[in-house]
Formats: sequence, C-alpha cells, structure tokens
Amino acid sequence: MKIAIAGAGIGGLAAAILLRQRGVEVTVFDQFSAPEPVGSGLVIQPVGQAVLGACGVLDQVVATGNRVTRMLGHEADNGRRVLDVWYDRRKGNNFGLALHRNALFSALWDKATAEGATMRLKAKVIGAGDGCLDLEGGEKAAGFDLVIDALGARSPVTPIRSVQLSYGALWANVAWPDGTELPLDHLRQSYRKASNMVGVLPIGVPPGATGPMAAIFWSLPRDGYAAWRAAGLDAWKEQASALWPAFAAFADQITDPDQLTMARYAHGTLRVPYRPGVVHIGDSAHRASPQLGQGANMALLDAYALARAIEAHGPKAALPAYAKARRWHVRAYQTMSWAFTPQYQSDSRWLPVLRDRVLFPVSMIPPVPRILSHLVCGTLLPAFPKGDPLR
Ligand SMILES: Cc1cc2nc3c(=O)[nH]c(=O)nc-3n(C[C@H](O)[C@H](O)[C@H](O)COP(=O)(O)OP(=O)(O)OC[C@H]3O[C@@H](n4cnc5c(N)ncnc54)[C@H](O)[C@@H]3O)c2cc1C
Repeated sequence: MKIAIAGAGIGGLAAAILLRQRGVEVTVFDQFSAPEPVGSGLVIQPVGQAVLGACGVLDQVVATGNRVTRMLGHEADNGRRVLDVWYDRRKGNNFGLALHRNALFSALWDKATAEGATMRLKAKVIGAGDGCLDLEGGEKAAGFDLVIDALGARSPVTPIRSVQLSYGALWANVAWPDGTELPLDHLRQSYRKASNMVGVLPIGVPPGATGPMAAIFWSLPRDGYAAWRAAGLDAWKEQASALWPAFAAFADQITDPDQLTMARYAHGTLRVPYRPGVVHIGDSAHRASPQLGQGANMALLDAYALARAIEAHGPKAALPAYAKARRWHVRAYQTMSWAFTPQYQSDSRWLPVLRDRVLFPVSMIPPVPRILSHLVCGTLLPAFPKGDPLR
C-alpha cells in the first residue's frame, strides 16, 4: 500500500508514523526546504498525548514541555476570576502538555524519518486527485492508493468553507522572567470585556533554549495589525501592562515589533472529509480559534483514527470508517469552540457580562467543574471508540 501525505505538520507527521508502524509505504510532501524552529506555544491535551504515546514520542515531548494543571483568567478592571478550569486530578496524572511547537515538530519529524517515511521537501502542493498530487512547477506525483491532505488551515485542496473570525492574536515566545511570581503550571489570561485579552503560557525548555520559556498572546482584531504597528511598541506595552501588571516582565522582552507574529483564525468544518482517493485531516478538515486549545489535538486524533481505519479496511473503504469514527467528537468540539470564542474574543458587550456574571459562577458549581475539565481534556465525548487500546 502506497500513501502520499501532503503536509509535514502535526497531523501529517503523526499519520506518517502511525502508517509506517502498520507497514504502509509513505511519502510526505511539504513546501518547506528544511525543518525550522518556528511556531508558537501550544497545549496538547490528554487525548492528544495518548496519540503521541502511540507514535512513540510522548516521553520525549513531555521532557521538553511543561505540565499545565490549571487555566486561570481574570477581568482586568476588577481583578475578579472569570475563568478557572482545573485538570481533573482524580484521573491520575492528568495535565495539559504545554510546549513550543518546534519541540513537538522535531519529535514527530525524527520519529517519522526513523520509521522510514520518505520526505519530499520544497514540494508545494497545488492540487490533489484520486491517488495523485499536483506540485508547483508542473510535476504530478501519481500512483498512490490514497492521498492524505494534512496541509493545514491554508490547504489549497480542501473544499472546506470557513468563516473568518473577527479576532486573531499576536504571539511570541520569550524567556520566563526571573523573579515573576506566576506559577509555572498555570495558563494565565487577563481580559477587558472580550475586546482585550493577554495571555501567558509556560512552555518548558524547548530544544536549543537554555531555560524555561513562555508563549505570550495578545488579542487583536483581524484587521488591526497595521494600526497596532503604527501605534508603536511603547503604547502596546503600556496598554498590556495596564491590563495585567504581571505581564510587564514578559512584554519588556519585546524590543522589535517583528518579534510578534499575527495569527488570524477561521472557523469551518467539512461535513464529509473525503472524496475518492483523497482524505482530509487536521485543520484542512476542520478549523477553529485556538481558544479551547484543541486544534493540534484534533489533528492527532484524526491521524490515529485514519491509520486505524486503513489498517482495518484498506485505503478505499477506510474513508467512511474514518469519517464515522471522528464525526461526533469533531462536531462537538467545533460547536463548543464556536460558542466559547466570542466570550473571550469579540466586540460583544453582553457576552462578557454573561461570562462574568452567569457562566463563571455556574462553572464553579459541581458537577460543572468536572464537565469543563472533560471539555478541555478532549474527553467531553469519547475520543476513541469502544475496544480501542487508547480508550
Ligand atoms: C497562535 C496559535 C496557537 C495555537 N494554540 C493551540 C493550542 O494551544 N492547542 C492546540 O491543540 N492547537 C493550537 N493551535 C492550532 C494548531 O496549531 C493547529 O490546529 C494544528 O497545527 C493543525 O495541524 P495540521 O497538521 O492540520 O496542520 P499544520 O500543523 O499547520 O501543518 C500543515 C503543514 O502543511 C504544509 N503546507 C501548507 N501548505 C502547503 C502546500 N501548499 N504545499 C506543501 N506543503 C504545505 C506546512 O508547511 C505545514 O508543515 C494554535 C494555532 C495558532 C495559530
């Protein structure tokens, strides 16, 4: 069986490893010319960690990442808690694995190449058909039993229709400041209504770093980047530190606006994530804001479900089985993300009031904390079917 994987990102590399483990001949195509240490921080939830375990890279990424046990947010103007979600400690060693994207990428890349996946770099995909890929420059890579589209949020081959979200975020990775009193195991955010948000995620010691690092986030309207740049860094630092004084020690490390990267988000879900000879996984099949921290998780779950379906049914009959295995979990998380994101990133006046006055107090009443913990962990609905070894 020969399978082409378009995209050497999180979903594509996990799929490459899981398929190689099942004896499939795999060729991975990506546009980059060499693996690079780029990207923000992200959180891999317990279900995604289970897939990393199946890939054989969990110990390595846990060693470079950081364990997050709580997500805590407060309203800047009155200091009140408006988000407080704990990882359910009754579930044993339950945590969000916060890490630099490159730490995850490096582990997956090394494992995929060690497992014998063939890597085709500088290969920009411009189209995909039944078992073949069209590459920039006119080359057609054909003769595959299946093409997996793991090209991410800008995939040129997915028919997904998505809505651009009104807010994105600036992000950067900085050193964890000496002397800060913030705990290393909390993801912290501060909000003013839903139009301002600043966040700090401790991401451990990524490859090449000499000490602990943090990923920092600053919410910005999707068309607000030019105005933010024009206002200058000092104005931003003043605004951000007023929103959350503890953030000043992180913001001070930004001396050039180019240190911050603008990420814009979209929301959309493919109803049927395949067509003859082509299947979509990860952001190419469903995309959402990262507010719930599920995108990389979902890409890993897709890769796992697809590899299991191919093992059980072969490359053609696997596609409906894969779609069925993922349908309800994907729909539930896409719906939750759609519902939650505007409470934290929007121009709505009433949603943050609802968040602070109604939803947060309710979220503290048992059993809601446990339900929220399941939501964050990726286990609101079972992520793996009955009888699956990871369940
Ligand atoms: C700022 C930010 C913070 C986030 N935080 C979190 C978080 O905390 N937790 C979480 O789970 N998720 C988070 N996400 C989302 C997460 O990063 C994505 O959902 C996840 O990376 C999707 O994986 P993927 O494999 O589908 O695509 P990607 O990982 O994006 O990989 C796509 C690959 O395809 C390649 N490619 C793209 N186009 C082409 C082309 N035309 N030809 C050839 N190659 C191509 C790219 O080079 C890349 O290697 C965050 C996203 C952002 C932007």
